[in-house]
Amino acid sequence: MGATAPVVVAGAGQAGSWAVKTLRDEGYGGPLVLVGEEQHPPYERPPLSKQVLLGDDPPESTILLDHDMLGELDVEFRARTRITALDRERRILGLEDGSTLAYDRLMITTGARVRRLELPGAAEAPIMYLRTIEDSLAIARKAAKGVRCVVIGGGLIGLEAAAAVSELGCRVAVVEAGERLMARVVGPRTSAYFADLHRTRGIELVLGDSPVRLEQAGGSTRVILASGAGLDADLIVVGIGVVPNAEFAADAGLKVDNGLWVDECGRTEDPRIFAAGDVTAHHNPVLGRRVRLETWQNAQNQAIAAARTLAGSEHALSDIPWGWSNQFKVNLQILGVAGHWDDAVLRGDPQGGSFSLFYFDQGAMCGVDAINAPRDIAVARRLMSRNIPVDRTRLGDRAVPLKDLLKG
Ligand code: FAD
Ligand code: NAP
Repeated sequence: MGATAPVVVAGAGQAGSWAVKTLRDEGYGGPLVLVGEEQHPPYERPPLSKQVLLGDDPPESTILLDHDMLGELDVEFRARTRITALDRERRILGLEDGSTLAYDRLMITTGARVRRLELPGAAEAPIMYLRTIEDSLAIARKAAKGVRCVVIGGGLIGLEAAAAVSELGCRVAVVEAGERLMARVVGPRTSAYFADLHRTRGIELVLGDSPVRLEQAGGSTRVILASGAGLDADLIVVGIGVVPNAEFAADAGLKVDNGLWVDECGRTEDPRIFAAGDVTAHHNPVLGRRVRLETWQNAQNQAIAAARTLAGSEHALSDIPWGWSNQFKVNLQILGVAGHWDDAVLRGDPQGGSFSLFYFDQGAMCGVDAINAPRDIAVARRLMSRNIPVDRTRLGDRAVPLKDLLKG
């Protein structure tokens, strides 16, 4: 069985698409199967909370590999197929319909799923999540002028959704459990800037509070908060984080702790099994620690690294983590992973709407939040990756071209 069994890529999202493409680019010519539980061929998700939700782009524009492309790559694509079990000894996957699929080597790219709001009254409430094409279209259908939308979660999903449905005419309130917005990914000053932005656009922000139950009254839903306050809603969009789809891997004995553990090349502890994307917690050589990243860049580049390694040319991921968000046409780019820092330097003018915050830990630049300042990210990436010592006074002076700091 071993020699003729295919390489199976489990999970047909962004990482899955890059895995099959890279395996072919690297010269793997054997049988290749891509399995995904959704009905679509692989697509990318960032536009779902932006252009697709706003109706600016059709959902088809998100497709990464259509059926023709999959055919050209000679990939057997199994849509609407959910993997439920992994038997590492026999090298087979169990599928939801009771059948099995043998593999010679396996790449797990099952991503993550939304964390659900488990509250009294949730089953009867008009709750929507935002992960798939269907989710985005369903919210867009409901979001119309005058609709009262309560967004639970002031992270990236919550704020992008809040901005989009507000632009579609909804009256929006955002409820965030923490004391500031996007606390998981940006510093306090950036949070404050986005709080101002959303408030200026008419969005009500409720910070440091969270829903405890949902009540039905007169055809609408009332979201009751821990503080005792209540918010009326025709639509509730929930963005309270994600859970990695790592259960079948964990059941098969692979190490899972906030994600499926892989090394910097995407290898699990089983030499026949690799993994990439949101489902993984990888050892990141740039950060010097294990992280689970939930970004477009990581899904693509980790899948490329893991597929190259699977195909025999060992390749380690060496990116500085990077992600972006668009809210009300304001572009936020985040370099590095928010965590410990002891100094922050502001460059630019928050009042003018274009600025960056550079974070330092023990003298070394460790991250940047750039607001409408994409060029700062490009230079900062070079400063960080080359470990160039930075004069913080010059960094904070916009009269000094940032590129000049590359000279050290
Ligand atoms: P996924 O894209 O989730 O793909 C995994 C696939 O595996 C899914 O199709 C799933 O159905 C399938 N699957 C899961 N379990 C099974 C199973 N048991 N059997 C079969 N199939 C299975 N990142 C950014 O950097 N910038 C952005 O602006 C940005 N915007 C985003 C907006 C939205 C609305 C969302 C949801 C995410 C956004 N992200 C953004 C994050 C980025 O899209 C993810 O990090 C990326 O999609 C991860 O890719 P993945 O392939 O690991 O997982
Ligand atoms: P997230 O970034 O983890 O943010 C969730 C927020 O909801 C957190 O601030 C959390 O606060 C808060 N929260 C949790 N439970 C709550 C509750 N019961 N009531 C009120 N607030 C609550 O996750 P997300 O925004 O849902 O994003 C999901 C995924 O999409 C992630 O993978 C994300 O990276 C991805 N995504 C990325 C982008 C991007 O990079 N631009 C854009 C959209 C989506 P606490 O931290 O205090 O619990």
